[in-house]
Formats: sequence, structure tokens, C-alpha cells
Amino acid sequence: MDAPFASYPIIDSHVHFVHPERMDEVLALMDAVPCARFHLVCIPNPDTTTHNPAALYFKQSHPDRAYISGALDYSILADPTHAPERLAAQIAALKMQGFDGLKIIEGKPQVRKLLPYPLDGPLYAGVWAALERVQFPVVFHVNDPDEFWDKDRCPGWARQSGWDYSDGSFPSKEDLYQEIDNILERHPSLKIIFAHFYFLSLDLERAARFLDAHPSVCFDLAPHIDMYRDFSHDPDEVNAFFVRYQDRILYGTDTDTRTLVRGPDGVRFMQSIPLLIRSFLEMDGKFTMPGGELYQGLGLQQNVLEKIYHINFERIYGESPALFKNPERRKRK
Ligand SMILES: [Zn+2]
Repeated sequence: MDAPFASYPIIDSHVHFVHPERMDEVLALMDAVPCARFHLVCIPNPDTTTHNPAALYFKQSHPDRAYISGALDYSILADPTHAPERLAAQIAALKMQGFDGLKIIEGKPQVRKLLPYPLDGPLYAGVWAALERVQFPVVFHVNDPDEFWDKDRCPGWARQSGWDYSDGSFPSKEDLYQEIDNILERHPSLKIIFAHFYFLSLDLERAARFLDAHPSVCFDLAPHIDMYRDFSHDPDEVNAFFVRYQDRILYGTDTDTRTLVRGPDGVRFMQSIPLLIRSFLEMDGKFTMPGGELYQGLGLQQNVLEKIYHINFERIYGESPALFKNPERRKRK
């Protein structure tokens, strides 16, 4: 990266590894930050396969660098009677396999519509109980940018991805927040990292109320379209928020092999994200990204940066990734 940053032991808490053949490219992106350790978060595919095998493969190759969080396997829905208990049983199974946590994308409106089960309903009841009991952390994607519910403001690329929620057939933002409030009321000790700042970058008062009400949850800094523009509106308010909640914010980029496979533009885009986030956190005052866009940096102090870059993650996931369980060795026993 070009900007003159101090060196910190950085952990990227939010990386998608979908293409096993792209391992070297992901490593090169992480080395450029530089990012010694990173967290691969898996999601389910519409055909009920998951990214879990790719993450296990990565961890097997780089057990000291890769934390991995598994996706739930929805093939269990074929047997509706036993689905809730079989879903809940997957938490212990993932832990056994060497996963460090769970990733849930089922709060993204598109996915919530595809899997039409309330997050606070009976299908997931055992999952939340199991997660809380064994203190297995979750990266949880809930909601999306406000624009996606507005036909006039929804960007073309988002519409093409199926993220135009304006036709009334998708849950509303408030419906989804309500489901989360209900879950946290029942399970106040859940260790959850809400991805993309819980889509509250424009409403820091609400973000503060939410973090105050739920001491065991955090937000990650994986960008959504306007997040860092939102953060540039009122530098003093944003700075005060980051200082006050310095124990509750995690560095994350949403680096994604699905973007890398789009070619040089995708690679350049992914290279620009760590630069944007680090500049935002570390530069004092205005800064310009290579595309010419102007942002406002926070110039956070070293002790706050260290928390956001790695200490908060290590508190939740441990100082090194869970031991990889070699299935072959287990079988031979
Ligand atoms: Zn993501």
C-alpha cells in the first residue's frame, strides 16, 4: 500500500474465500496490507452447498494465518420435522472440525427471502441457544444499505445482483432489526459481530443505543457502498463514536474471491479497500482516494488502532486460530 502507515499486527475479520484456486491471490492481498492473520467467513449457496470446504482447505494450508467461520448447512430442510435440532447440532460439529465461529448471512434481505424463516423463529431457536452456551462467535450480516429498498436510488449493479428490495416482497429494515432485538433479548450473551457496521453508519445515535443495550456485540468495518462517505459527514461525532466504542469495532475489508475473478478491475477494487479503511482510521483530516474521492480521516491514537486492528478480534476468537482437526488422523484413531 502506498500511504505511509505505521505497522500493526492487523487481523482482517471479514474475508470471503469461495474459489480454492485463488488462495495465492488472497495471500498477496493480505500481505500487501500487511495483514498477518485473517478470518474467512463462509456462506451457504442456493444449492445448499457451502463455502465451508474451501475455508477448511485454506486453513489446512495456512493453519497459523486463517481463522474460519462456517456456514449452516440447509440440506437438513429436506426433513422439516428434525430441521431445528439438526441445524443446532451443526454448531458443535463445526467446532469439532476446527472452525473458529459461525457466519450467518441469513439476515441479508435477499437471503432472508430465499430462506423464509424468521431469524427469531423456531427453526433457529436451538442455534442461538447452542451458540450462547458454547460461546461460539458469529459474524452476522443483517440488512443492507437503505438505497436497496428505494427503486429510484438502488444502484444498477445492486439490482443485477437481486438486491432491489423495492417490490414489497422483501422484509423491511425495521422487521429485521426487530428479529435481532428479539434474539438478543432471549440470548444476551451471544458473541455477535454485526457486519458492515450493522448498516447504521448514518445513524450513530442509534448505533450507540444498540451497542449500549447489548454489551456482547460488536460491529465490523467491512464497507458497504456509502459507509465511509457517511463517516465523513460529521468528523467530530464519528471520532467521538470510535473513541467511545473502541472495544466494539473490528477491522474488516470484505475481500472476496468473487470480486477477484472479475479481472483486473475487481483486483484493483479489492486493493483499494484496505487503503480506504486504514486512511480513514489513521489519517488526521481530509484525504483523497486514488479515484479522486475526498474522505475525512479520524487520526485515531495507536492504542485505539491496536484494538480495532487486532485486540478486539483476539478477545473474541483467541490469539491464534483454533487447531485444525485433520479428519484423516481422526479416522485412524
Ligand atoms: Zn461479506
